[in-house]
Amino acid sequence: MLGDYSTIGILSCGTCANLSFTGGLTGIRTLKAHLLESGKQVKLARVILACCPEEIMRQALKSNKRALARCDALVVLSCAAGIKSANSCKPGIPVINLLDSVGSAAVACTDPVLAASLCRSCGHCVLTCTAGICPLSECPAKSKYGPCKHFSETKVQCAIDPGRTCVWHTIRARSTMLHLLPALKELHARNERRDLDRAPEPKGSRLWKTFFAWHAAHMQKLEWVIRLFRH
Ligand code: SF4
Ligand code: SF4
Repeated sequence: MLGDYSTIGILSCGTCANLSFTGGLTGIRTLKAHLLESGKQVKLARVILACCPEEIMRQALKSNKRALARCDALVVLSCAAGIKSANSCKPGIPVINLLDSVGSAAVACTDPVLAASLCRSCGHCVLTCTAGICPLSECPAKSKYGPCKHFSETKVQCAIDPGRTCVWHTIRARSTMLHLLPALKELHARNERRDLDRAPEPKGSRLWKTFFAWHAAHMQKLEWVIRLFRH
């Protein structure tokens, strides 16, 4: 991905990627070692509180303008939202993504079923009807509105992947416990369109947003505090 770029800048996400051990200081250390081994030079390496908010990214780029002027490319260690945020701030050099986004999830680890249930951004969320479990990410057949045709009432194993429990059994058990079966029934009967209207673009930026974003762009030392949530 870095091809002929010889001088590299790195901005690393201090929140989700940090908690996934692919961003934060861990991500920077790992990437830096690879880059130096490959003969590249690293001119900037910073953790920012989060890469997805555009204003935080803008402040980070502004504060590190001098170092960035010596870089051929900027690596952003974050999900796709951070890459988009960096691109929309027009840093003047190519933005490179070296991490793969697999979905978004709750960062807490209190309920394994819900925490592992990634959102795949399908555009029509059904979590209210499925007791908080995303069928799209948990079911190998991506069967979102109800069980697939191989589903068995008597077998809890998934028909496609016998190593896992059928997510629709889990959804049903949880819905029964939470008295959500009518919502589940309504979901089975649904037939939704894929396209959604876009939300209007927000206009203007208030002073406090810039103030907060500036601080968030300089919060490198808070990275370990965020990491504490994982332990
Ligand atoms: S149904 Fe699943 S993939 Fe779709 S928006 Fe909800 S959580 Fe995300
Ligand atoms: S058995 Fe259940 S989890 Fe497996 S593919 Fe069918 S609906 Fe999905």
